[in-house]
Amino acid sequence: MIIDFISLPRDRRAALIRDVIHHSKEKNSDLNAVVRREDEWVEHHIQEQLDKPLGGLPIIIKDNILLEGTINEACSKVLEWYVAPYTSTILQKLIDHGALVIGKANMDEFAMGASNETSIYWPVNNPHNMNKVPGGSSGWSAAAVASGMVPIALGTDTGWSVRQPAALTWIIWRKPSYGRYSRYGIIAMGSSFDQVGIFATSIEDIQTLDLLIAGIDEKDETTVNSGETVVKQSWNSREKPKIAVPREYFSDALDSEIAKIIHEKIQVLRDAGYQVDEVSLPLLDKGIPTYYTLIGAEVSTNMARYDGIRYGLQGDTFGYDKISDYITSMRSEWLGSEVKRRILTGAYVLSSSHYEGYYVRAQQVRRLLQQQVEEIFQHYDLILGPTSPEVAWDIGSKSDDPLRLYLADLYTVIANLVGCPAISVPVGEVDGLPVGMQLMGAQWSDEIMLEMVKEMG
Ligand code: GLN
Repeated sequence: MIIDFISLPRDRRAALIRDVIHHSKEKNSDLNAVVRREDEWVEHHIQEQLDKPLGGLPIIIKDNILLEGTINEACSKVLEWYVAPYTSTILQKLIDHGALVIGKANMDEFAMGASNETSIYWPVNNPHNMNKVPGGSSGWSAAAVASGMVPIALGTDTGWSVRQPAALTWIIWRKPSYGRYSRYGIIAMGSSFDQVGIFATSIEDIQTLDLLIAGIDEKDETTVNSGETVVKQSWNSREKPKIAVPREYFSDALDSEIAKIIHEKIQVLRDAGYQVDEVSLPLLDKGIPTYYTLIGAEVSTNMARYDGIRYGLQGDTFGYDKISDYITSMRSEWLGSEVKRRILTGAYVLSSSHYEGYYVRAQQVRRLLQQQVEEIFQHYDLILGPTSPEVAWDIGSKSDDPLRLYLADLYTVIANLVGCPAISVPVGEVDGLPVGMQLMGAQWSDEIMLEMVKEMG
């Protein structure tokens, strides 16, 4: 826990940081999790960080979170050797409070993926079973915390990237309401979905860091003042939160063992006096098609800047008659197949002849989904269900079938489409592999939601 770390004397913390760095190097040879160590950065900053409130808290960040003067590639060839010109707002806030960045985490290329297999580096192993994926796209950040390498890691969550790896590796993650954390300095994937989040092993640690990084940022116009984001809900700590469980969650798509664990948990909550009611979320199964239509559109827009000229690698223009031929050739060579697939789908749904039929329609469904979820939150404090329809799968077993990978996002994309906070907490095991339970809260109920989940035990 962060509180235990910061209450240690300065020299004990300094020694512990050295141990963490040493241990993480050893661990990494098994897990393939670290793409870059920041030893130089650590040496340069350790003394000043030890004297700040977080006391040099060692953290790992996903490779798409910018740290000035260091290499950030989002695990893509196109950004090879790209040196960040500035630090992302949320990381700067943590550094100002005394966090120490010890390394960058492997991830799916530009955060596109569900298994951490699309990185240009190597797939990441699950610390619970080295043949299994740790989930993606923040797989390494999750693996780093799950394996005890570091107490805290930062990831990004566009559709499930943080909650799902958390579920598959037995740790906690909370995705905030969209707008609670700044996205400035995060290499964009889908701008209306992306949110940074924290992997931790306790809700208290998430609460501590959440308060430090939440809030308005003039460099990101989608941020809101965190003080205004505490929604006025009927819940207060003397009452038990009212919980809704959409019946559509328990379809054939859900592994029967996971369903059993979630039902058992619901029973435990009922026995403890919680009101847990079955509700309906009819548009649940439209979440994935809606998300993948819109994410393609946003990805194709965000990826347009990688042209082999402005960022990262630059090729030899000799032999090209037209600049567009050069750009096509560089993008073909340096972008991975999942990124290209999304650029093509996005360009298609945004094209003038298909825009109305796909993009506009998906936005309409997103609005309807928001209404359905808001309707549930008129009567309930939390929506409970599984985080992932299945436990961690074998590395390589789905990599040639992107649609099967997309289906794994069934439960998590809803929170990103709606913009509400969600948390994944470990709740059981199937064949020794962790199972996560997801709780969604009403938009802006972030702080109160963490209290509710804590009170639920
Ligand atoms: N699996 C989802 C996707 O590939 C979400 C990934 C993420 O949250 N970064 O789009």
